[in-house]
Amino acid sequence: MAPMDATGMELHGDLLRWYAVSARSLPWRAGATPWAILVCEVMGQQTPLARVVPRWQEWMARWPSPCDLAAAPQAEVLRAWDRMGYPRRALNLHRCAVRVCDAGGELPREEAALRDLPGIGAYTAAAVAAFAFGARTPVLDVNVRRVVARLHGEAGPLSASVTLAERARAESLLPHDGSAARLSEALMELGALVCTPAPRCGECPVASHCGWLAAGRPPASAPARRPQRWAGTDRQARGRILAALREADVAWVAREVLLDRARVSEDPAQPGRALESLVRDGLVSAGAGGYALGGDILPR
Ligand code: SF4
Repeated sequence: MAPMDATGMELHGDLLRWYAVSARSLPWRAGATPWAILVCEVMGQQTPLARVVPRWQEWMARWPSPCDLAAAPQAEVLRAWDRMGYPRRALNLHRCAVRVCDAGGELPREEAALRDLPGIGAYTAAAVAAFAFGARTPVLDVNVRRVVARLHGEAGPLSASVTLAERARAESLLPHDGSAARLSEALMELGALVCTPAPRCGECPVASHCGWLAAGRPPASAPARRPQRWAGTDRQARGRILAALREADVAWVAREVLLDRARVSEDPAQPGRALESLVRDGLVSAGAGGYALGGDILPR
């Protein structure tokens, strides 16, 4: 069935009732500021929620507003990012905070203006517009994409990026009565808790609206993508260098120490390559005294 035919309202009701009793208690769901929502959305990309929650709480206690974060040195921001991975997100949050603070300290409400901020892509802009400002816009993380596809009778796998057809389907699911953002939260939660890669259809509040279930759960047309390798990659080498810099009790660390820490494969060029890429990305500064965390430290 098509989810937004005559039974669309029923789907909304079923999903929102389930969400009211089943939603996890997450700290940013209790009246967080737009900035706090943006920070949790950035942290939540590519990092499991269990690791995000304590980091987000620390960040919000320490830097509750864009101007608080903008005033912090990048080295402190990268240290506070800890081991959440993909540290360019921390640097982008810092750049974003500087931009927002310079513009008066308030996040813009419009999706297009949010996308204009450093490191804010389509997903994050939509999530902030919806969850912070109540915009009726599809919020398409991987969980929502999977739920929407299944409701429409498809098993996946999902394409690398969101297609126009997917966006249109997701938008057609959103109500016009002011509850669109809450429905997006509910879809996201359903994808995280029930409609997971191995779905628990027997517990699903919208099972009676699900095209894939109605079709007998046919298998995916192509195999799912294999998870990315980590051990021995440049990403692992970069992570080791950043960990060494975070843990150092001096600002500047010698190149040899960092290269030694970054040996994670037989490739002799890999440690140097990883270090140079961190400098290029602005995550590390190079100076006569060695290397330091953050791109805003004066070389010496
Ligand atoms: S019935 Fe199963 S596949 Fe369909 S939305 Fe619910 S959990 Fe997902």
